[in-house]
Amino acid sequence: MAISSTTVLTGPAGRPSANITILGSTGSIGKSTLEVIALHLDYRVFALTANSNVQTMVEQCLRFQPRFAVMVNDQAAKQLAVELHKAGCSTTVLSGEQALVEVATHPEADTVMAAIVGSAGLPPTLAAVEHSKKVLLANKEALVMAGELFMRTLAESDAVLLPIDSEHNAVFQCLPPESRLAGGDIRGQGVRKVILTASGGPFRTLPIEQFGDVTPEQACRHPNWEMGRKISVDSATMMNKGLEVIEACFLFGVGPEHVEVLIHPQSIVHSMVEYMDGSVIAQLGSPDMRIPIAYSLAWPERINSGASFLDLTRQADLQFFAPDLERFPCLRLGMEAAAKGGTAPTILNAANEVAVESFLSGNISFKDIPAIIAAVLAQMTCDNADSIDIIRQADEQARAAARRIITETELGNGLSAPTGLKQ
Ligand code: NAD
Ligand code: MG
Repeated sequence: MAISSTTVLTGPAGRPSANITILGSTGSIGKSTLEVIALHLDYRVFALTANSNVQTMVEQCLRFQPRFAVMVNDQAAKQLAVELHKAGCSTTVLSGEQALVEVATHPEADTVMAAIVGSAGLPPTLAAVEHSKKVLLANKEALVMAGELFMRTLAESDAVLLPIDSEHNAVFQCLPPESRLAGGDIRGQGVRKVILTASGGPFRTLPIEQFGDVTPEQACRHPNWEMGRKISVDSATMMNKGLEVIEACFLFGVGPEHVEVLIHPQSIVHSMVEYMDGSVIAQLGSPDMRIPIAYSLAWPERINSGASFLDLTRQADLQFFAPDLERFPCLRLGMEAAAKGGTAPTILNAANEVAVESFLSGNISFKDIPAIIAAVLAQMTCDNADSIDIIRQADEQARAAARRIITETELGNGLSAPTGLKQ
């Protein structure tokens, strides 16, 4: 069923309802989505997908009884089918990447939660947009690597795109209602700038000399949010905010000069919109992803999310600082890639994914991450990112360049400090 921007899905009780595919259901966002769905009888799970986590998928299938479960990994799919058969569960098990696209575009699924981490989420998420689904976008890497193509596909379809990233969901809520889904430049609506808040991650005050000794466990211990390992490292380097600047530019049709980043360690103000008359509208709430998930599931209505309510009398201070780009070069690289456009964000994203994976496997140090990304950006020339082939090619070349640089680093050729983008 195609959903126009004015369609409100309603269940038997007149409340919002949906038939939902969750891409990446075994991850942090996937699990939070299922927690919200479990509170509302009118939301049905149509399909669940994961890479290889059979145990969690078995539990989710037994509880939510989806029509389909996809494991990308073949071996994991076989194991899941055996376990579900033993338990008498009638869910059909599929495997492989193409099955992700099938359940994201199936005519009976009207809503798709895009919560796969990294570039692997692009094909099924883009396919869901092409098939005019209501797409709840957590997978920011898909938008960063192919933003122009993604937004053009959105404009040519009847899809509705709702941001799940807490900052972008906050901005969406603070915008004038008529411009939220327009996909055009929001400055025509009296908006002066978008202000994205950032917690600053676990190393906001750590002496920079100690960045080289940071372990993956320390990087994944976020002060305010419980998230998957990749986004936790991105938050620690602040590449997460760099990716979010790019995400905001595509979602709201503005240049990076109209996107400001403010460090806000308490993670209570999730982002703001400043208007030309001097008004600033902010969205506040507990740092709990069930809030943007519930908002987007029910949009334009509101439903219970299960999150705790905010008690501002128990909140000591709300602080805001300008970010330190010397401490967090990844944020600067993200802003520069947003300004440069074309395939620069694709290259940045691919180099970052390789560098983060390598850091999590213990092959490079924390401070090598920005150095590797900067070196890849300096080596590669940027093209217009107007076709999927160009995007794939830039993605593959940037991954190969990052791997080459990492191998050289392991051989003892230390990396230099991050430099700017090749012009
Ligand atoms: P996660 O690592 O906890 O979960 C990732 C999910 O993707 C898992 O279900 C996994 O099985 C699946 N997956 C991983 N690799 C895959 C592959 N190659 N093919 C198919 N499926 C694969 O990640 P997360 O924290 O839930 O984040 C998911 C996305 O949401 C990311 O893009 C992240 O940036 C974004 N996001 C997360 C949060 C958060 O609070 N966790 C907040 C904002 C945005
Ligand atoms: Mg965010």
